[in-house]
Amino acid sequence: VKEQMWKIGPATTVKERFQHLREDETLPILDACNRPLNYLRISITEQCNFRCPYCLPDSTPSAKTKFSNVKDYLSCDEIVRFAKIMIALGVGKIRITGGEPLLRHDLPEIIKGISKNPKLRDLTLTTNGFLLKTKAGLLKKSGLHRLTVSLDSVTHDVFSKMCGHRAKIQDILEGITIAKNEGFHPIKINAVIIKGINEDSVLELVKYSRKEGHIVRFIEYMDAGNCHNWHQDLVVPNQHIVDQIHKEFPLENVEKKNAGEVSSRYRFLDGKGEIGFISSVTQPFCRDCSRIRISPKGKVYNCLFAEQGFNLKPLFAAGISDSMLKNAIKDIWAKRDDRYSENRLLYRGFSQTREKPEMFQIGG
Ligand code: SAM
Ligand code: SF4
Ligand code: SF4
Repeated sequence: VKEQMWKIGPATTVKERFQHLREDETLPILDACNRPLNYLRISITEQCNFRCPYCLPDSTPSAKTKFSNVKDYLSCDEIVRFAKIMIALGVGKIRITGGEPLLRHDLPEIIKGISKNPKLRDLTLTTNGFLLKTKAGLLKKSGLHRLTVSLDSVTHDVFSKMCGHRAKIQDILEGITIAKNEGFHPIKINAVIIKGINEDSVLELVKYSRKEGHIVRFIEYMDAGNCHNWHQDLVVPNQHIVDQIHKEFPLENVEKKNAGEVSSRYRFLDGKGEIGFISSVTQPFCRDCSRIRISPKGKVYNCLFAEQGFNLKPLFAAGISDSMLKNAIKDIWAKRDDRYSENRLLYRGFSQTREKPEMFQIGG
């Protein structure tokens, strides 16, 4: 029954999945489980100025957290060209991530190059917010549509722990305010909650986001990568967080806009905005996963937890044509049957031995 549920069904149902597309948009290609390709995450650098305990902790042996040489990264032109090809293949949404994407000096050119494509519906970026004070205006001018800031607490000491003591909360809050004044609105706030570390920050984050008009999204702590000590017991199930918030600020469920939406959305009954939950551990959503990822060094991944990526860098170096590149991507996607998080739920402990790309490499 589980296997059958995986298939999306007859052609009419597949068609229904694409109702949100505009007339001029390309019908996405489907993978081996009938999942459409419509969302690209581009990680543009591994380098980061934070050491979050769930991603790149200070305690990790340095060999595992060594950043690659920036000379090995895809160039701005290669990234923009890749994005253009993906849009031609039906991708409507692109997220720029990292490492810390604001550390890359040619970020404005990358954004300009990608955003000028009229077929792209949504260009967004995830940042730790540290450099927003000086760079938010430039991001807006370059054509970035939306912004997500990762913020795991608004309490000074807890925030400090969650960024590996690399920043002060005030710097991030000021950066977010500047970004809002530059026209990024609403800003999404991503918060990872870890048992025993920042559980007490939930209500403060909600109060802050309601006051400022941001949309906070709680992301369950995932076993991505191998350089942090993930354990199931450290995961705070999002349902606990929903219940906690609902007691203080009553919520009601919001229907999904389209089948590919992976966060559960709720609105506050008093009308003061909405809130999201990404429950990849306790309620995995692999059957709706339409994301492809590319690493800074040009490896394409079909899944956040994939053991292997497909290295495009040598193909770029060899002067591959656009049509051959398109065929390569179609082939990679057509063979995709990844469903790591659903398997994790079915076979507990399954994750411990697998070699996975690190979060700071693949970008979440
Ligand atoms: N440096 C930027 C930032 O932190 O926003 C972008 C890259 S970061 C890898 C992208 C997102 O992944 C962040 O929102 C971060 O909180 C999330 N993340 C990192 N490690 C995680 C983990 N083990 N489980 C869940 N989310 C994680
Ligand atoms: Fe934290 Fe993002 Fe840096 Fe990872 S990449 S350590 S999540 S700021
Ligand atoms: Fe997508 Fe892989 Fe995450 Fe499942 S585990 S939702 S297939 S990235």
